[in-house]
Amino acid sequence: MSRLSEGDLAGLASVFVERLQAVVGSEDQVAPLHEPRFAGEEWSFVKDCLDSGWVSSVGSYVDQFERDLAEVCGVKHAVVLVNGTAALEIALRVGGVCPGDEVLVPTLTFVATANAVSHSGAVPHFVDSSFDTLGMDPARLRSYLESAATMSNGTLRNNATGRPITAIVPMHVFGHPVDMDGLSDVARQFGLPIIADAAEALGSTYKGEPVTSFGDISALSFNGNKIITTGGGGAIVTDSLELATRAKHITTTAKVPHRWAYTHDEIAFNYRMPNLNAALGCAQLAQLPTFIAQQREIAKRYAKSFSQTPAFNTFAEPPNTQSNYWLNAIMLSEDTEGARDTLLNASNDVGLHCRPVWTTLHRLPIYSSCPRMDLPVAEALERRLINLPSSTKIAARPDAT
Ligand SMILES: *Cc1c(COP(=O)(O)O)cnc(C)c1O
Repeated sequence: MSRLSEGDLAGLASVFVERLQAVVGSEDQVAPLHEPRFAGEEWSFVKDCLDSGWVSSVGSYVDQFERDLAEVCGVKHAVVLVNGTAALEIALRVGGVCPGDEVLVPTLTFVATANAVSHSGAVPHFVDSSFDTLGMDPARLRSYLESAATMSNGTLRNNATGRPITAIVPMHVFGHPVDMDGLSDVARQFGLPIIADAAEALGSTYKGEPVTSFGDISALSFNGNKIITTGGGGAIVTDSLELATRAKHITTTAKVPHRWAYTHDEIAFNYRMPNLNAALGCAQLAQLPTFIAQQREIAKRYAKSFSQTPAFNTFAEPPNTQSNYWLNAIMLSEDTEGARDTLLNASNDVGLHCRPVWTTLHRLPIYSSCPRMDLPVAEALERRLINLPSSTKIAARPDAT
């Protein structure tokens, strides 16, 4: 990396802010990274809950949201839950992860991916990313597992820790699908389920099908910053009736159905999504195609605005995929990565809420002692990625790029 002079930094910062403002405009007080939009039936569906008294964990919107979501996700079953972290924790549990296991997760992800693994009693085992998808790199994962783990009696074990490795948890970064074919081959070779963290990827497709229809289970989030929101919420989606039934059971206190008796057949959770939140979800899901079209339009404008600046590369969806472009990003060239913090300060000074990507999880003290492969690509992405304002409202502006 070459050293950047004060003059270089100031020049890069002014071009960066100018190229952002061409897309976002400069008249707004702030351009947030995300903001929810309620342009559909939200008011009437929520009012209906209040008028009818069905506000809690049973109600017709919960059932409808689960049906609609399964269809959109290209799967047979959806179970809606209180948030995405809980959804991933339950997905791991029903997917066969046990306390004391290790679970393969990317180091370049939101902390919730690893937290869900920890809450299920297992240990995150960090995997490197690919420059092409920003998600797990299947080829490097395979060669790593071939040398760092051993298969015996149908169980894959980490040679260094002796612990079983029992699941692969890819995450579709910013909505861009990972290489599911490549990961499925690795999963098959080592006998592991794929339990995807699809919190950012609702509506993204892989080879023409919803990305959530690949792998064994996907977990979604409907937090306020996601492509649709229920206030707080999450879901697991799967083709397996057995996994969905089990997920519903253990998220509703494992109560055995009966007209009046309270019998619970295991120590379980209260993680069901309330009807009030599901009402929002039904209204939001109906707008998903509009939101995706708007996000794709914003991505196109950023790509055009930054096309003349070799220092700032926008990220294009991987081949054979359609991304929901939930969160836009630029990647700094290698020789300008030292400008990252200057660019973050300059943009935030004028109300443009740019953010660095997450701190890679293996560098957080809470996860620094976890097992991991070499992580050079994730570390480079951490130094070079900057997330850009991605509110759908940007698409309503006239295109000034
Ligand atoms: C948002 C998010 C989650 C967690 O979802 P919550 O609903 O906030 O618990 C998990 N993983 C990733 C990658 C996310 O972006």
